[in-house]
Amino acid sequence: MDPKAYKEMLLEILYTPYRQCTACPLGSLGRTHVVFGQGNPNASIMFIGEGPGRDEDLQGLPFVGRSGQLLNHVLEAVNIERKDVFITNIVKCRPPHNRQPLPNEMDTCKKILLLDQMKIIRPRIICTLGSTALQGLLDKPCKITQVRGQKLSYAQTPLIPTYHPAYILRNPKELNQFAEDLSLVASMAQTLDTL
Ligand code: SF4
Repeated sequence: MDPKAYKEMLLEILYTPYRQCTACPLGSLGRTHVVFGQGNPNASIMFIGEGPGRDEDLQGLPFVGRSGQLLNHVLEAVNIERKDVFITNIVKCRPPHNRQPLPNEMDTCKKILLLDQMKIIRPRIICTLGSTALQGLLDKPCKITQVRGQKLSYAQTPLIPTYHPAYILRNPKELNQFAEDLSLVASMAQTLDTL
């Protein structure tokens, strides 16, 4: 079996027990779908956002609303094809009224789903979108304005934090920095893929 199909199968096996997950409070607060993630299961680049919004919750797919459209445009501008990457969130269920996910919600979801997604996909580079995703992943407070674009690491995998596209929609003057960070992700992924 080719690696992509094999990883696809492993992801499906991972998701099966969690399709109606109530392991954290977000499972009982009105979500429509558990939004596991989307993209190439054999991706070199894995994007991790905060959590599903309204459109994502309704469609069961990550980054399909206005933030997702902005992300798509910038990915295209830096020559990353969305179909080649894997995109998910720290929490897989929509927090009510789009509030930030709480530490216990992020910790629970990370342990039962995200860490296993990472083990299956084995991305060569991780890009977190926004401070909540970074804090949830690293389990410590971080200021995205101070660390964006820096080369960090998570479990020996290179990690580049950047802004959440929703923040760029509210602060368009930061669009260049966002594009710079994604360009860095693209060039690092290209280099790592040739090693
Ligand atoms: S956010 Fe994650 S842990 Fe919480 S209910 Fe949804 S899938 Fe389960």
